[in-house]
Amino acid sequence: MADGDRLYRFLFEDFPIRGQWVRLEATWQEAQSRRTDPEPVRRLLGEAMAASALLTAGLKFEGRLNLQIEGEGPLRLVLAQCDHLLHLRATARYDQGVPTDQIGFGEHGRLLLALEGRDPGERYQGVVPLTGENLAGALEHYFAQSEQLPARVLLAASEQIVTALLIQRMPGESADPDAWNRCNHLLDTLEAAELQQWPAETLLRRVFAEETVRLFEPAPVSFRCRCSRDGVAAMLRQLGSEELQDILREQGSVSVTCEFCGREYGFDAVDVGQLLADDTVPPASPSTH
Ligand SMILES: [Zn+2]
Repeated sequence: MADGDRLYRFLFEDFPIRGQWVRLEATWQEAQSRRTDPEPVRRLLGEAMAASALLTAGLKFEGRLNLQIEGEGPLRLVLAQCDHLLHLRATARYDQGVPTDQIGFGEHGRLLLALEGRDPGERYQGVVPLTGENLAGALEHYFAQSEQLPARVLLAASEQIVTALLIQRMPGESADPDAWNRCNHLLDTLEAAELQQWPAETLLRRVFAEETVRLFEPAPVSFRCRCSRDGVAAMLRQLGSEELQDILREQGSVSVTCEFCGREYGFDAVDVGQLLADDTVPPASPSTH
């Protein structure tokens, strides 16, 4: 499969529409490698990862984007995170043992997009209700409502590959007022299998044969988890001494598995004593002369 783990930006030369295309392959396989999700969850997880990369690539910021779908059904959470270097990770929470055809977000599903920029001015959160169980539709709804700029989103996830495409109308007058509708109609002709298989350049050339599209150099996309032993220790400290001692008594050690990458962190009684002792050391405060 060509163009695996690459993200392309493109724009139409003759009218203000731009887009992004991404294909996850090794990234997607690594994200799934320690998970055993049923089919509907796996598909959504892949779609959410690819969509988070598309959205991140459309922004100029340093930090992290969270794409979160929440609900009150057997499926409670799908969360994909992408940073400005296009490092991706994702997780899902759902009731185990529910028949596959009943796994869904229920009636009150919602899509949350949160931007955590390094600059406090770059913090932002937007929410739209999840209409149906279709992530692409929810994202289009989000763009229409929050950004007031229409976008079209196509997502195709299989066990091996996720491919996603987004086009967005940009602000500004267009000398070609029909361009947006025309591009949408052209995308209607694209089959899911073609979206899955065609390299970016082939897809744009075949679908938008009459248009002038400028395709920029691709950027690499990869799976990366930021979890660490220190981070897990900080989280355990918040549980408190009593709770940790209870777990030690019952299980002999405290074991935490990262829900994003599946890495296991073990803390025996000595480790727990150490991390609790660390907590008693007050953090160094800046001197105030
Ligand atoms: Zn991790």
